[in-house]
Amino acid sequence: MSAREGGTLKVRMSASRPFVFEHPPHARLAVAVLRRLPPFAGQPIRIQYLPGLRDPRGEIHAGAFLRERRVVFNCTPVEFRRVFVHEVFHFVWWRIGNARRESYEEILRAELRARARGELGWSAEWRKQALGEGDVRQRSRRWREYCCESFCDSAAWLYSGLRHHAEFTLAGRFRASRHRWFAVRIRGCLSI
Ligand SMILES: [Zn+2]
Repeated sequence: MSAREGGTLKVRMSASRPFVFEHPPHARLAVAVLRRLPPFAGQPIRIQYLPGLRDPRGEIHAGAFLRERRVVFNCTPVEFRRVFVHEVFHFVWWRIGNARRESYEEILRAELRARARGELGWSAEWRKQALGEGDVRQRSRRWREYCCESFCDSAAWLYSGLRHHAEFTLAGRFRASRHRWFAVRIRGCLSI
């Protein structure tokens, strides 16, 4: 479905793909990746383009506003699919419930015990590098933010269709256990 509202072309996907692409090139870039993603249920999420997007640390690829149900993107077309999946999975993490969040945390704790280095995206990797012993034990805010970013980067690795990327630095056996976790825990229609 496609309609003009307020002068902006909005491309609305099906009920299980509740995204409104306000920047038509994003809709085209998302077609292939939407086919690989599980179905979603939720009110529409607006996908917006905002060149020059920054946070206090500098220029960033994207930012998700969960309560406002919108995501702003500032990434290149080449990076869009990976970043799109990452941002959509912020909404999944938000709704997924404590049991599954804690189960994912357990995967990460096991990786740390096994001294696994690397991650599946820079967003998770720099947070992992900044963790101290106490963060894990106390489930500090830093630890919980790391878990969230790791979950979103794992989803981006799994569903983006990219086999290789400079930011996929986690060793193969740990990737395999995350893949298994997603296969068991992330199935059916996801609330976003
Ligand atoms: Zn993120």
